[in-house]
Amino acid sequence: MKRFHDFIIVGSGASGSVLAHFLTQAGADVLMLEAGKRFSADTFPANEMDANAQLMWNGGMDASTDAGTLFIRGKVVGGGTIINQCLLDRFDDVALDDWRTASGIPYFRSSEMTRHYDAVESHLSLHYMEKSDWNRNAELYVQGFEKLALEWAPLRRGQKDCGEGNDCIVCLGGCPRKSKQSMLETFLPKAEKQGLQILSEFEVAEVVHGSSFVTVQGKLKGQPQTLHARKVILAAGALGTTQLLLKAGMEKRLPALGQYFHCHPQWMTVGLFDEIVDSHKGAFQSVKSSDPRFRQWGFKLENVFAGPIAMSLLKPGYGFEHQRFMKQYRNMACIEVAVRDQEAGQLRINNKGRLQIHKPLSDGDRQRADRGNQVVHDIFGALGAREIMTSPLRIALHLMGGCGIGTDERRSVVNEGFQVHGMPHLYIADSSIFPNAPGINPSLSVMALAHRASEIMLADAGVRVTKSTRSRKQEQKA
Ligand SMILES: Cc1cc2nc3c(=O)[nH]c(=O)nc-3n(C[C@H](O)[C@H](O)[C@H](O)COP(=O)(O)OP(=O)(O)OC[C@H]3O[C@@H](n4cnc5c(N)ncnc54)[C@H](O)[C@@H]3O)c2cc1C
Repeated sequence: MKRFHDFIIVGSGASGSVLAHFLTQAGADVLMLEAGKRFSADTFPANEMDANAQLMWNGGMDASTDAGTLFIRGKVVGGGTIINQCLLDRFDDVALDDWRTASGIPYFRSSEMTRHYDAVESHLSLHYMEKSDWNRNAELYVQGFEKLALEWAPLRRGQKDCGEGNDCIVCLGGCPRKSKQSMLETFLPKAEKQGLQILSEFEVAEVVHGSSFVTVQGKLKGQPQTLHARKVILAAGALGTTQLLLKAGMEKRLPALGQYFHCHPQWMTVGLFDEIVDSHKGAFQSVKSSDPRFRQWGFKLENVFAGPIAMSLLKPGYGFEHQRFMKQYRNMACIEVAVRDQEAGQLRINNKGRLQIHKPLSDGDRQRADRGNQVVHDIFGALGAREIMTSPLRIALHLMGGCGIGTDERRSVVNEGFQVHGMPHLYIADSSIFPNAPGINPSLSVMALAHRASEIMLADAGVRVTKSTRSRKQEQKA
């Protein structure tokens, strides 16, 4: 195994894969380390239970210190993009203006970001969910919105030729149709063709910044390994990247490390109907709220559903009452409220070296959630639901912050060039750099930022990009 590289990327999700593509396209020698296993469309786990166990950190059961929120994150080649719903939105001016204010970084504006969004979107097949895609849950959602004179819009999803009988709830455990535009179907195969080497089941334990290169230590399938690179990029996600730096005791040098953690907490509400809704069939997410008042009030609504295991976790209680509720799985309609959380949480390491996620719900965020949930109750009430249940358990899928980007070293961990403050060979370009919660699906912006980061990193590293380097490599392979 080659032990010294131009770049080592830790993590293969939305950020790591985009970086890998643009760096290898330029001729750089890149190694990617991913803690999770590698699956393909043919080998993804066959059911919800196995998907949770095999594709997620801690079986999808990372909880906040107050046990009120469950954090779900991918542990697999392709990261969160393997288990996510691939709803891809650009940030609006509200989000970018807030980022510019919080970070002091001038390029957070649409005129600067557009070219990065364009660059990554050109590699993705994007589809607006049409009326012909709707299942009954989506129809009920739209009927409810129209009864209450609320504005809605179709969701934009990364998918390609889903075909008749789209059964996309299954692809939350990895898309078996090669349709969902995960990193495994888009950026990673291109990067591999350009020379990227991926080591899966390599969990990085430590990163040591030296004067002219960075050392990475970890275990490949349980075997200790030490590798080096001129530049190391942490793309292990908000929890993974922050944890690595906290474990290295870097909070003494980086006072903002672990701070400003956000997660768009979500509440799911089920409306039980006399009719069969079958929310799990067909395209299980097609429409969202677009009412400008909701943006102002700090929440959004999406039509959504989940597999039986997840739905049973959301319903409190046990025994006959729980069974009575779950037996009506086919009669459930469901709407989610996702809050643009204003109050930041904190990531810490406890004395056993374990990550602790401190994210209590502030009064303000509780009020935003209550307002959104009231709208959902009004919708289901207007549609004649015979029972309405809002889950008290909060779900967090958009994990952001912990290593914020900014110009002020007391309030941020990386500078506008994605370098960790004071460590010129160590970069971060994943969702951990978010300075606050945008209130918008984050992954497309993670990819767009990774594109910008790749340009800066190539220039910093002085990798001469280079058709000649690339063709030399191709010649060597041939
Ligand atoms: C169920 C679900 C649905 C979602 N739906 C959407 C959606 O529809 N639209 C949207 O925009 N966003 C969605 N998201 C969020 C989106 O997937 C994330 O924002 C995005 O993947 C973050 O990208 P990232 O590169 O920062 O991290 P990730 O994609 O999480 O990748 C990080 C990778 O690093 C690896 N890693 C971590 N620690 C280590 C280590 N020590 N050593 C080696 N490897 C390590 C992890 O295993 C992982 O593969 C969803 C998330 C989930 C869980």
